[in-house]
Amino acid sequence: MIQLYIPLNFLGVLYREIKQSLTDLDKMFALMEREREVADKPGALALALGPGDATVRFEHVTFAYEPARVILHDVSLEIPAGKTVAVVGPSGSGKSTLARLLYRFYDVQQGRISIAGQDIREVTQASVRRAIGIVPQDTVLFNDTVEYNIAYGRPGASRAEVEEAARAARIHSFIESTPRGYQTMVGERGLKLSGGEKQRVAIARTLLKDPPILIFDEATSALDSANERAIQAELKSAAQNKTTLLIAHRLSTVIDAHEILVMDAGRIIERGTHQQLLARGGRYAQMWQLQQQSGEDAA
Ligand code: ATP
Repeated sequence: MIQLYIPLNFLGVLYREIKQSLTDLDKMFALMEREREVADKPGALALALGPGDATVRFEHVTFAYEPARVILHDVSLEIPAGKTVAVVGPSGSGKSTLARLLYRFYDVQQGRISIAGQDIREVTQASVRRAIGIVPQDTVLFNDTVEYNIAYGRPGASRAEVEEAARAARIHSFIESTPRGYQTMVGERGLKLSGGEKQRVAIARTLLKDPPILIFDEATSALDSANERAIQAELKSAAQNKTTLLIAHRLSTVIDAHEILVMDAGRIIERGTHQQLLARGGRYAQMWQLQQQSGEDAA
């Protein structure tokens, strides 16, 4: 029995290792696939950004992943430099697609997207990505130390800078409480972090990168309310003076936004501040009421 068990156990380990490598490869190919979607124009220059310049504009943007199915229809929006614009709407309405287009995973088919007045198709992709920090819905961590995962935001950052970012993202004490501290291995093959903890690592990484533009894709999974409030506070301080596109699943996060866009089936169907949208008595007001009644968020 023992003789049989050992090889089987070994096979189990081997299987997990292979499966893991395939998952990593999957991710790599998915990423490469996206990389292939866009290419720099010959001789493209870097995005030129001065202080307070980072206004983001979508002008009559129409986009389809596949020609037969248009996902965004004539979307126009402006995020003035340093302000937060929030996008809400049902699942599949195109919110994350806005983020992917701004990060230039894909090019738009009609219309244009500009940063500081420069069409993002005319400048280098690398310079666009340097200007943007993303806190995704579901952060994938590298199979490496916590320190590496945070420092990735700014290669060459000192340990003190990493800790400062971790403090601001309220993950420092948690890291310190683990036996190996900043040297703790995380990711699929290391310490498993909760959704909220992973998102804080992503916030710390982004704080360290300190980009003028921020894309925050709020996690759909319900966090407990204490965690949610903590994340919202972190988000608020991270977004201070940054041009922020906030994709929100909970209306409580968007109340202070400069403008809220309500999307449905790839179109902006309502826009305004929280107060304006409530006064309008339309879809946003309905969503808000529903949320108040149910006591939970229904964004
Ligand atoms: P959620 O709130 O669930 O995150 P969302 O509003 O962010 O949804 P998107 O992720 O922007 O929605 O997706 C909009 C539509 O585009 C969906 O119908 C989705 O199926 C489709 N879509 C997304 N990514 C791709 C892709 N790579 N190829 C083809 N279709 C896609």
